[in-house]
Amino acid sequence: MTYKIAVLPGDGIGREVIAEAVKVLKALEGAPSEEQGAGRDNRPAASTPLAFEFTECLVGGAALDAVGVPLPEETLKVCLNSHAVLFGAVGGPQWNSVSYELRPEKALLDLREKLGLYANLRPTKVYPPLIDASPLKREVVEGVDILVVRELTGGIYFGNPRGIERVGTEERGLNTLIYTSSEIRRIAKLAFELARKRRGILTSVDKANVLETMQLWRKIVTEMAQDYPDVTVNHLYVDNCAMQLIRSPKQFDVIVTENMFGDILSDEAAMLTGSIGMLPSASLGGKIGLYEPIHGSAPDIAGKNKANPIAAIASAAMMLRYSFNLEDKAALIEKAILTTLEKGYRTEDIFSGQGAGSEKQGTGAELRRVGTQEMGDLIAESL
Ligand code: NAD
Repeated sequence: MTYKIAVLPGDGIGREVIAEAVKVLKALEGAPSEEQGAGRDNRPAASTPLAFEFTECLVGGAALDAVGVPLPEETLKVCLNSHAVLFGAVGGPQWNSVSYELRPEKALLDLREKLGLYANLRPTKVYPPLIDASPLKREVVEGVDILVVRELTGGIYFGNPRGIERVGTEERGLNTLIYTSSEIRRIAKLAFELARKRRGILTSVDKANVLETMQLWRKIVTEMAQDYPDVTVNHLYVDNCAMQLIRSPKQFDVIVTENMFGDILSDEAAMLTGSIGMLPSASLGGKIGLYEPIHGSAPDIAGKNKANPIAAIASAAMMLRYSFNLEDKAALIEKAILTTLEKGYRTEDIFSGQGAGSEKQGTGAELRRVGTQEMGDLIAESL
């Protein structure tokens, strides 16, 4: 089976980390793509070698510079003709002054909308060898396993009217937070179903004490809870949730929330794992899933071989799991990441987090600082 993957590295470290994710996927090529066990006559089920066809496309600032728009038609066409999209990151200070419609980040918003990707899954799991890389205490983060389900195509990032207008002598900035009941229902349904397959605890995060849109959110989630008696539902205001994520993150299993709250809370949750460079994501809802690290283009470290590629590599694992139904291969990549960390290899962001003078971690392995490419090589070799 050949899986067609649209590869959109984008800008800054997006290019560097996606190269490593592709490297790791290539290391899997040739492995049997179906492992169904014995067939009816006790012979192994037929299996075909796994193969990927990668098509690299321009997106973000790189596309703007090359062809004048952040999301070229050709890129969209390739995405629509692929089985999945692997996305790096877009943006950078050199494009800060371009108009909103041409901003590199607009490419990602448009892509999400055009591919109908209304759900963003952001798992936050603390890898045991990295417990001491978290700025929080070991007892707070050990065992944390949270799935943030963020609504992705609605809310204040998309609502109209929007803009900056002149009112008399003043300028006025305006954005609009809108959710329809069907938009809330479809994201909540996914979150309930995911919670049911995990520990059965769903926390719905809103700001129903202040915003009518969020009152509707809470009302619908509360109504839906009756159809999921096996799921325990809690409602938290977003400010309280931000605090609880640091105070006692282990209380959370699945968090479902609207677009902007999910954007902010998942970056906060990332720090439980030690670095934003560790967190992958999957954007689902349409026919084609999009997989990307949650971090941005990190202009401060771009081009220095310093970026942590693990979030991008773990995003590739999510692609195998959710788009290609290759759970065993996804688990192999995750195991290879864990093994590499257990051997003591660290990119800068998770090395310094271990504290000055801390040369060892839980497994007793010497800590070794590596660059982006070495980390990718080590994970691919481990596979
Ligand atoms: P950022 O995520 O790029 O960087 C925040 C901090 O985290 C920086 O100090 C950076 O060095 C560090 N960091 C991020 N990823 C890392 C990695 N893999 N390894 C090690 N360290 C890492 O956020 P920002 O600085 O606010 O934004 C920079 C640009 O990226 C902006 O133009 C922003 O709009 C864009 N952005 C894009 C996306 C996306 O494409 N999905 C997401 C967020 C931000």
